Amino acid sequence: MAKKGNRIIITLECTECRTNPDKRSAGVSRYTSTKNRRTTTNRLELNKFCPHCNKHTVHKEIK
Ligand SMILES: [Zn+2]
Repeated sequence: MAKKGNRIIITLECTECRTNPDKRSAGVSRYTSTKNRRTTTNRLELNKFCPHCNKHTVHKEIK
């Protein structure tokens, strides 16, 4: 049985929304995900589709 308590909810934010001048719409793309804090101690970075930049960008964990 899997142990509880190691998975925490994180927020991933588009790294290009704040600097991209060719954005299709205002706002910042965010995804929520979970990670295992025991095995993933550094900040998570994932390639996700950003609807504001209209392309795949790197989304970084915030907070
Ligand atoms: Zn973006």
